[in-house]
Amino acid sequence: MGSHPDKLIHAIAADNQLRCVAAVTTRLIGEACRRHQTFPTASVALGRTLTGGLLLGAGIKDLEKITVHFHCDGPIGNIIAQADPFGRVRGYVTNPEADATVANAVGKFDVQAIVGSGTLFVTRDAGFEIGLYKDAYRGSVPITSGEIGEDIAYYLAKSEQIPSAVSLGVLMSVDPSDDDDAPEFTLDRLRVAAAGGYIIQLLPSADETLIRQVEQTIAQAPASTDMVRMGYSPEAMLQAALGELDLRVLEAREPSFYCQCSRERVLQIISSLGRQEVEDMLAKDNGAELICHFCNETYQITGDELADILTAVD
Ligand code: ZN
Repeated sequence: MGSHPDKLIHAIAADNQLRCVAAVTTRLIGEACRRHQTFPTASVALGRTLTGGLLLGAGIKDLEKITVHFHCDGPIGNIIAQADPFGRVRGYVTNPEADATVANAVGKFDVQAIVGSGTLFVTRDAGFEIGLYKDAYRGSVPITSGEIGEDIAYYLAKSEQIPSAVSLGVLMSVDPSDDDDAPEFTLDRLRVAAAGGYIIQLLPSADETLIRQVEQTIAQAPASTDMVRMGYSPEAMLQAALGELDLRVLEAREPSFYCQCSRERVLQIISSLGRQEVEDMLAKDNGAELICHFCNETYQITGDELADILTAVD
C-alpha cells in the first residue's frame, strides 16, 4: 500500500489526440500533511490540490510556476498549491484543523463541507527566467463542486477552453492505538495511505467523439484513490482510464514537496524591511522568528544576525 516511490509522467494517447499527465504522490502529500499538521479532511483537500497543481504544471515548457488557489468561504479558508514544470510542488491551507469526518470503512471525508463555495484562481508565470517578462496569466471560476478535481476540470473547460477529465484522490488511514479510550485519530497516528491522480486533455486536433469515449472508459475504471491504494503506477492509472486507446509516455520523473525558502532568503527579506523595523526587532525580542507559510519551516534569527543586517544597511 503506497510503497512505490512517487512518480509523475506525461504522455500522449489516442494517436496524439490526448495529452495525459498522471502521478502517484503518496510520499510528498504525506510530507505536506506532516509539515502542516493537517487534520484528516484538510489533508485530503490539501493533497488533492497539491496533486492537481503538480499535474497542471507538469512538462509545460515555458512555465516557471503555476499557482492554484482555492479561495473558500468554508472553514478551510484558502488552499494554495504552487508547482513548477519539474515536478516540485509546495502549498498550504489557512486552517489545517478544518475537518468534516464522515466515519466509514474507506476513510471518506467531506471535503465539500470544509471548502464550501468561493473562487478558484489559477495563475501561470512564464517567461521571466529568460527575460521575456510576459504578463502572468490569471484565470478564475467559481467553486461549483468543492471536491477539488471537478473544480479544476471546470476551470480548464471554462477558462482555458480545454475539455479535460481530472481525477484526484487522497486516502487517509489512522494507525490503531493500544489505548481503547484513545480519540478517533491523533495527528501522530494519521497517515496518507495513498495519493495520486491524472488529467486527460483533448488536444485541438482531436476528434470530438473521443471525449465521450474517454468519459465512458473513465466511468468504468476504478477511482484514482483506489488505483493508488492497489499499487497502480501512473502509467497503469492512465491505461485504466483510457481503455483500449494507445498510450505513449514522453517523460517520467520523481515529484517532490519542495520549498524555495532558505535562511538566506529570510535574511534578505528582513534587510528589505528597513532600518527602523530591524531596530525594533532587535530592541524588543533580541531576534526574530519567521515562519514560511508554504512549508511551515521556522527560522530563528538571532540578535547578532539582526545587528549584522543593520551594519550592512549602513
Ligand atoms: Zn518554505
